[in-house]
Order: sequence, then C-alpha cells, then structure tokens
Amino acid sequence: MAEKKFIRIKCADCENEQITFKRLSSKVDCMVCGARLAEPTGGRAELKGEMIEELGVEEEAE
Ligand SMILES: [Zn+2]
Repeated sequence: MAEKKFIRIKCADCENEQITFKRLSSKVDCMVCGARLAEPTGGRAELKGEMIEELGVEEEAE
C-alpha cells in the first residue's frame, strides 16, 4: 500500500511555498532563502514553517 502523504509548507521568512513529504528522512530547507522548513523527528516532520495544506490520496493509520 503506497504512502502518499505530502504537505505544503510556507517559509516563515520569505513566504516561499514548498511541497515535501510528511514523513521525512532528512531535513528540508527553503529553496529560496535557506531557512529550515522541517526536520525529521521520530519519523514525522517537525515543521518550522507554516503548513498550508496536506496533500495525498492515502490515509494512513497512526
Ligand atoms: Zn524562505
């Protein structure tokens, strides 16, 4: 069963919007200004920016 969960995050510094996985294996930086947007914490993304929306088709059971 495919996990297709993405999130759209807005950078707090420059308002760039970026799509990334909800479950991260590595940190995510803003492509525009380099600010930290999210980093992995126990398999989940700890968001540093503002989450705009969740994307994806599969609901996953926690
Ligand atoms: Zn930015």
